[in-house]
Amino acid sequence: MPTTSPKSQHVLVLNCGSSSLKFAIIDANTGHEIISGLAERLGATTPSIKYKFNGAKTVINLVAGQAHAEAIDTLVSLIKDHSLDEQLIAVGHRVVHGGEHFTQSVLIDEKVIAGITQAATLAPLHGHANLLGIASAQASFEGLPQIAVFDTAFHQTMNEVAYLYALPYKLYTEFGVRRYGFHGTSHFYVAGQTAKLLNQPIEQSNFISAHLGNGCSVCAIKNGKSVDTSMGLTPLEGLMMGTRSGDIDPGLFNFLTTQLDYTAQQIDNLLNQKSGLLGISELSNDCRTIEEAAVAGNKKAILALDMFCYRLSKQIAAYMVPLQRLDAIIFTGGIGENSDIIREKVISLLAFLGLDCDQKANLNARFGQEGIISSSQARSKAVVMPTNEEWVIALDAANIAKEL
Ligand code: ADP
Repeated sequence: MPTTSPKSQHVLVLNCGSSSLKFAIIDANTGHEIISGLAERLGATTPSIKYKFNGAKTVINLVAGQAHAEAIDTLVSLIKDHSLDEQLIAVGHRVVHGGEHFTQSVLIDEKVIAGITQAATLAPLHGHANLLGIASAQASFEGLPQIAVFDTAFHQTMNEVAYLYALPYKLYTEFGVRRYGFHGTSHFYVAGQTAKLLNQPIEQSNFISAHLGNGCSVCAIKNGKSVDTSMGLTPLEGLMMGTRSGDIDPGLFNFLTTQLDYTAQQIDNLLNQKSGLLGISELSNDCRTIEEAAVAGNKKAILALDMFCYRLSKQIAAYMVPLQRLDAIIFTGGIGENSDIIREKVISLLAFLGLDCDQKANLNARFGQEGIISSSQARSKAVVMPTNEEWVIALDAANIAKEL
């Protein structure tokens, strides 16, 4: 029995981080993952690739110092060994920053590479990794169309009132300093799925989606389009996150440099790696660990969770300004999909928006289970919707490849 139908549309999805590479081969028709895995600690002393295929998990240790190119070489051998290359129709790349240039997914050619290279100045670590991934995949899968799917693209419908910082205007026109937003693929996907779940057209849907993973962002979606989002020029702005501070007083920079002799790099490290849930709890960036400690009475863990929910709720409430009418709030990402504690807290802080929480439905919505967690009387619904960025990337890549 063949495991795939002749019409299957297998796409290799690559998501290159600065020291990691997530990959999957996905059937764009069904979202089914044929193989998936993660290469991590790339460029460090103990790089490795973990992958799942046919229900079995395997680990391959790479040689110390090996990075993206070698990880992709190993991945190519793996794919060929299992004859998975025969049905591949495209490679889809998650690209973190598309700047203002890319408002949708595109077939990668030299001009697109130049555009991604230009946008990479706004997110050097991620941008460099994305370009490396594209170059390696082009060398290894010659002849297969390569498609770029941008984290920023969905938010290109924001208007300038929402995306400009109140800074000298020239910083925007000359250097592209503005708010771009991230997690766009996820916000787009969960909004579409929620419209289906609620049986209403996405073009007439007003949602606020909260993508809560290690990085966290909220998006205001009006008539199916992003009108505001909490991340900005970089993925540091907005909500409190696992290790990122989110919004702070910009005056902190002056204080840290003049009073505490911090360098720019130390400040960047403080705000990106040492803050957020980890900074306040002094325990962990992992929400599960913090929830367990909070249940056991740990005061800093309780404070970290309270701050997380308070700041998230404030941001959601602020988005009532552009939306005016709210059909649903959507929880997604590892925390949004699993933490009934955080969902209940946020909903109770936002009860004035006509939200409520059905305890049983809230407890049941976890481990990839979608569902409405508000009661039938709620004026605005609360929804848990598992995200699937890889599938969106596979679908976009398959659709573009089909047109060639
Ligand atoms: P990433 O942004 O790296 O993709 P994820 O979306 O996987 O991250 O989210 C990771 C976060 O989800 C972690 O903080 C983790 O603790 C949290 N999480 C996962 N499962 C649960 C759970 N059952 N309860 C609470 N938090 C959870």
